[in-house]
Amino acid sequence: MLKVFQNFSRKMSTISSNRLSGKVAVVTASTDGIGYAIARRLAQEGAKVMVSSRKEKKVNETVQKLTNEGLSVAGQVCHVSNAEHRQSLFKNTKEKFGGIDILVSNAAANPSVGSVLDCDEPSWDKIFDVNVKSSFLLAKEVLPYLRERKGGSIIFVSSIAGLQPFQLLGAYSVSKTALLGLTKAAAESLATENIRVNCLAPGIIETKFSSAITDNEISRNASLEKIPMQRFGTIEEMGGVVAFLVSDDASYITGETIVASGGMQSRL
Ligand code: NAP
Repeated sequence: MLKVFQNFSRKMSTISSNRLSGKVAVVTASTDGIGYAIARRLAQEGAKVMVSSRKEKKVNETVQKLTNEGLSVAGQVCHVSNAEHRQSLFKNTKEKFGGIDILVSNAAANPSVGSVLDCDEPSWDKIFDVNVKSSFLLAKEVLPYLRERKGGSIIFVSSIAGLQPFQLLGAYSVSKTALLGLTKAAAESLATENIRVNCLAPGIIETKFSSAITDNEISRNASLEKIPMQRFGTIEEMGGVVAFLVSDDASYITGETIVASGGMQSRL
């Protein structure tokens, strides 16, 4: 039954439209998992997309793979904590595609497993540096480009754990809560400039990142029990939500977080 649902949602996500035609998107951490599916979906809907992540080999392979599908993409190495990388990511996107309309800030780190107050200071700093500070800086640094286009859209990728902390992902959960606040605060200050800021909070999605939960039978079953839809999400489903949020179909939506979690509890 689980497989049937997953095949269904994968098929659904191959449906594409041209609603992002003429748009240029930058997606961080997009050579694998959720970021990859977001980059692919935005390109399938007509956007030109700059993919990026830390490893050059993965960037090249991803560009090749998506280009082979006939999609309009380019690639650039970018560790989101590195100021020069961020700067050249935006500069090269403009040079390559003529401007930037969409930023998806998707990178995250989680070097610490345990409850929040067991997190050591270096791990706390790393989590907040990658997950929160880099998202803030990416949004700040993309603004001149969005302003040049007289509008745009920013998406932060948070997590269901940002609304309902996971005990074993304590500090990570708090960092994801910060992104909900960043979304609201930035959305309000940019609303009159035709720049929308929204957030995706995925539930448990099968990727490398979540494999500690999904590959182990005991934690897999324990997690499935908490999901009313009784299955994990697919990366394609996350791509679909982001494509909607950055499209004109969401033109009156800003400052919002869409929880895509199969019905998991999501009250802060
Ligand atoms: P994933 O499958 O492990 O993919 C991670 C991607 O991020 C890779 O492309 C990796 O490539 C890149 N990356 C890692 N650190 C980076 C950095 N510092 N700078 C730039 N790129 C970096 O992860 P995922 O599950 O798709 O997670 C993506 C986002 O979704 C994260 O923000 C995560 O918190 C969130 N999320 C995931 C789940 C889930 O269940 N999977 C649930 C809720 C939220 P390189 O190694 O080449 O850098």
